Amino acid sequence: MQKIPVGISSCLLGEEVRYNGGHKLSRLCVNNLSDYFEYRSVCPEVGIGLGVPRKPIHLLGDAEDPRAVDTQDASIDVTDRLKNFATETIPQLNDICGYIFIKGSPSCGLFKVKVYREDQDTPLHEGRGIYAKAVTDAMPLLPVEEAGRLTDPVLKENFITRVFAYRRWQQLQGKGLTASGIIEFHVAYKYSLMAHAPQSYNELGRMLADAGNHDPDELGQRYFSALMQALEKKANRKSNTNVLMHLQGYLKKQLQAKEKAKLAEVIEQYRNGIVPLVVPVTLLQHHFNNHPNEYISKQAFFDPYPQEMSLRNAI
Ligand code: SF4
Repeated sequence: MQKIPVGISSCLLGEEVRYNGGHKLSRLCVNNLSDYFEYRSVCPEVGIGLGVPRKPIHLLGDAEDPRAVDTQDASIDVTDRLKNFATETIPQLNDICGYIFIKGSPSCGLFKVKVYREDQDTPLHEGRGIYAKAVTDAMPLLPVEEAGRLTDPVLKENFITRVFAYRRWQQLQGKGLTASGIIEFHVAYKYSLMAHAPQSYNELGRMLADAGNHDPDELGQRYFSALMQALEKKANRKSNTNVLMHLQGYLKKQLQAKEKAKLAEVIEQYRNGIVPLVVPVTLLQHHFNNHPNEYISKQAFFDPYPQEMSLRNAI
């Protein structure tokens, strides 16, 4: 498999670029995900010429639009330099399909970064790092996550599902969008959508109802935006069970009574938290291998990412 380009904060790769000369190595990113991701490492603070080591900075002011300033001397303000660096760097990242940031950084933090206020001692945990905000503003559909949150199996599976969906869409776009290509993509994501946001499959289907009458690029943009928002919602045991039962329905004429009973039992065990998702999915795949179904064989639900990632063992 060709590795997928993914942006990452340099210190997560073990590069000693932090203000104190250290790093924030993420073993998950380096030892595990690097088999699938080709990282584009960016350290914005080094990128703007701040040395290593350097004086730390923090966010100050309005949580919506804070400044990045020296923690000891607020007159030393590097906000514009960080924003300019982002403006120059983002076009070089136009092939990435995801971005892994680091928690808490005034440059690279994604969620709940501390923002200090002139008149109060306690910071608000409501900010986003200056560079991370520039990336997410410029690429609002790009799957993004913080490395620390990827230790949560559900968040990890959700992020990786979105990275691979983004990649598939990029590949479709690379061939040139057509109405039939968008519809085919939508059909392939039917059961994934049902697992993440059950109402979205029909809503998106309605969007594509008269696809032939729209400009494919404009329609594709609207469609992909809605798809990525839907996939960002977390699938759970209830919604996945619903999908498994729908898939089970395609086998009702093919399976013997005993096989049907076993499949139903395994789905029930998954619903009750006794076995992980990989168990019913593997059994379904086994049955569909024996009783091929062209429509089902196209479903991304069965291979949203390489099986070797073993993500469904943990959810
Ligand atoms: S600016 Fe970003 S990449 Fe550089 S050390 Fe800080 S958090 Fe890591």
